[in-house]
Parts: sequence; structure tokens; C-alpha cells
Amino acid sequence: MERPSYAELVDRLQSATEDLGGTITERAEADGYPLYHLELPGPRNAPRFLLSSGTHGEEPGGTTGFLHWLEHDAAKWLRIFRIDAFPCLNPYGFERGERHDAAGRDLNRCFREENPPPAVRMVREVLDGTHFAMAVDMHEDCDYFGFYVYERLPKGPTVAPALLARMALEGPISHGEENDGLEIENGVVRMEWPQDTSLTELAMTRDKWPLAFFLYFVADHVITVETPGRQPLAVRVRMQRAAVETALSFTRGRLGL
Ligand SMILES: [Zn+2]
Repeated sequence: MERPSYAELVDRLQSATEDLGGTITERAEADGYPLYHLELPGPRNAPRFLLSSGTHGEEPGGTTGFLHWLEHDAAKWLRIFRIDAFPCLNPYGFERGERHDAAGRDLNRCFREENPPPAVRMVREVLDGTHFAMAVDMHEDCDYFGFYVYERLPKGPTVAPALLARMALEGPISHGEENDGLEIENGVVRMEWPQDTSLTELAMTRDKWPLAFFLYFVADHVITVETPGRQPLAVRVRMQRAAVETALSFTRGRLGL
């Protein structure tokens, strides 16, 4: 399996979205590429679910996995959820296999900037005033052989146990490795924060926000999944699809739907 070109990606996203009765809208332009926001309709008053991918251009499994999920798995969820997606937030990097945008910026550190890159501005504007039951940010870690997840949730059941059980069917799980000084334990990045501090309060103590920190303000539950870049793309795409499926199943159960 190879990643599609951006033009092919957009073609396939458009036709799959149309088949599902949704809309795909160009909302901004970055480095000469159109940026898209995808909306899939749900029942009236349906809980909302958000997917984002392609913030880092050298992580093609996120965007490619989203495309395959949309083409093969999405339809059944539209009876329950209203789903929004940003399928590729850094087309310049996606085309070139580069992490940063054309100006050399890591978009996943720019979500608190006053004058952010176009993709970041688009996400903030589109999500202003929204509320999601869950948001999944789809990433890859190019140095890793195994899957891991970031999940901060002050209370309530976490999705990690179900997610890691499902991932283990597709490939290895990271364990005992260190990532930016944080230890990964059985596929979960160990993150401690004061128990009396909410996630939005935690975000306000930091200067450089990844998308996940911004999402704390609009979603009840936020996870960042990281598929292992050292596995073949086909494995990572299966993992990304299965991660989205598991997150949707978990949220349906949590909401009693
Ligand atoms: Zn990433």
C-alpha cells in the first residue's frame, strides 16, 4: 500500500463523502493547497464526534487511515453520531513526507498562537462554539514499532483498555519506551497532573498547544492515537481504522446509545 497523492486523496474523500450524504468544504488554503472540513450528517440532536489527521506531514497513516475508514466503516455510525473531520491539516507536508509546513512550523505546537498558520486558524474557527462527545486526533510515531495512545480523562472510564485490546489484534503495542521524557506503559503514555486541575486549567498553564489541548475546550473526551511508523503502511491504516471504530463503540456505550 502507498499513500495517495493529495489530489487523489481529495477526489476519494469527495466521492466517499457524497456517497454518505455529507459535505466536504474548502475552508482555507495553506502553502498553495486547499484545506477541507468534512461533515457527515446524523440524526437530530445526535452527539457529535470529531476526527482530525495529517497535522504532521511525515505521518501518512493518519490521513490514509481516515480515508479508508470513511470509505469502508463510516456509514453505520451515521444512525448514531454526527461526525466532523479535518482529514489532512498539512497537505504540503503530506505530499513531501515532511513533518512541518512550508514555513517550517510544527502545526501541533501552534494552537494557542495569536497569528496561527491557516490550518490552525481554520480548526479554531470551525470548532468555535461546538461541543463533541469525543475527539480523536490521528497521528503516527515514525520511530516506533508499537502503537500507543495519549489519554487524559479526569474521571470516568477510559477507552485505553478496549483500544489496546483491539490494537493488539493488528500489531505490536509499545511498552517501556520513553517519549519526550514520558514513559509508555502497555501502550499508554503516563501523564500525571494535579487531580484538582481540570484539563482546560492544565492547558492554560502551557504556552504551546497541540491540537489536543485546544480540543479540551470543545470535547468531553480527547485522545491522540499514535500508530507505529516502522510498521508497513497497510498495518498502520488497519490500526487507525480500528482505533476510530473502537473510540466510536466506546462513546456509544458511554452515552447509552
Ligand atoms: Zn504527529
